[in-house]
Amino acid sequence: MTDSDEPALAVGADAFTQDGAGLEVAVVGAGAIGATTAYDLSRSGADVTLYDRESIASGASGRAAGVCYNAFAGPLDAEIGREAIERFRDLSGDDTFPFVECPYVWLAREGEPDRANAIRDQIERMQDNGTIALEVDADALADRFPALYTDDVAVAGIAGAAGYTDPAAYTACLAAAANGAGATLEPNTPVEIRTDPSCVVLEDGTEHAVDAVVVAAGAHTKQLLADAGISIAMKPYRVQALVARGDIDEPMCYDASGEFYLRPHPEGLLAGDGTEYVEADPDAYDREANPEFATGLLERVRHRLPDVDLDLERAWAGLCTATPDREPLVGELQPGLYVATGFQGHGFMRSPAIGARLATEVCGGEGIDAFDPTRFDGDESFEIIDGMAVDTER
Ligand SMILES: Cc1cc2nc3c(=O)[nH]c(=O)nc-3n(C[C@H](O)[C@H](O)[C@H](O)COP(=O)(O)OP(=O)(O)OC[C@H]3O[C@@H](n4cnc5c(N)ncnc54)[C@H](O)[C@@H]3O)c2cc1C
Repeated sequence: MTDSDEPALAVGADAFTQDGAGLEVAVVGAGAIGATTAYDLSRSGADVTLYDRESIASGASGRAAGVCYNAFAGPLDAEIGREAIERFRDLSGDDTFPFVECPYVWLAREGEPDRANAIRDQIERMQDNGTIALEVDADALADRFPALYTDDVAVAGIAGAAGYTDPAAYTACLAAAANGAGATLEPNTPVEIRTDPSCVVLEDGTEHAVDAVVVAAGAHTKQLLADAGISIAMKPYRVQALVARGDIDEPMCYDASGEFYLRPHPEGLLAGDGTEYVEADPDAYDREANPEFATGLLERVRHRLPDVDLDLERAWAGLCTATPDREPLVGELQPGLYVATGFQGHGFMRSPAIGARLATEVCGGEGIDAFDPTRFDGDESFEIIDGMAVDTER
């Protein structure tokens, strides 16, 4: 990687203004979160090394659907969602990565009044926070999006300020841009961490002492920290997705009753669900989709898109990470040790904002109180809940 590989990220460059000069930082994990954090830290003047045990975007960020929206209802969610979408827009382009504006629809079917009311409530709270969101009934939804079957829809929300991108391309671009801004990239370099003082340890035992370690190791984060004697309240869980040939331009859609999402894709359509509510082993989980997964999901997608001719292209599995309150763990765990994990299936869409904020905190600025990783002891027992599930808590 050379300076000439740095993508043209001039726009959006002001998203981060903290001074990190003099700081030496190791970022563990070159997914969307680690790459963005490394980029912002490098731009602040910090001396950054970005490690990955495999290649860049080889974890969840290379397996994600790339659906970006802001359909959570809380004020902080609105703020982070807005920052992230604006940054996707600013940084995307022909020389970087695509970001395709596309409205996001989420819906509940007739006969599920609790779900329908939760969606109505979400829309109202989103509007209160200045997020573009509109409540529509089945007829209005059919008028706006003729491809969708709507006869069974009780209520739907339509969110603007949404779109989709290629998560692997975004991550590769931000890692290359971090490199262009001075960061050293160390792919194929698994590390362990030590605290007091902070350092990373390479496979050959070499210790690299730094001022701060940022652990953004996705599903491996819990194990990596446990090896250093630190417990966090996080569980990796397996989800599945597929790409099918078929013709759809819009919208992106989450069918809360059918528990699946879909979005347009350059090859046709991308859809996902298949959440497994058990803790997965990041070193041993099955990366292939279950044999019955694609058939079952395509049947549900066909119900919602009756006129689209769908033909399976490929299917796969990946890991998301859950926390007891479904909010991520982002920030300082111990002096000089920072973490970012537990995104509950929404880490990619938030990465442009989370990376900037985490970099700010590492440089001595404010963190995000609600995501403070020390709010849990690490020994809590909790159930895994699908991150997209509609409820009145968000
Ligand atoms: C099928 C699927 C669909 C998804 N769809 C969406 C979506 O539409 N929108 C959305 O917002 N989110 C989505 N997600 C979730 C999203 O992928 C994650 O929240 C996000 O990618 C997390 O990024 P990350 O950088 O934290 O972790 P990762 O991308 O997992 O990166 C962690 C990196 O750390 C590296 N690593 C681990 N251990 C070590 C070590 N010891 N030393 C060095 N490196 C190490 C790994 O190799 C990996 O590259 C989806 C996830 C899946 C699986």
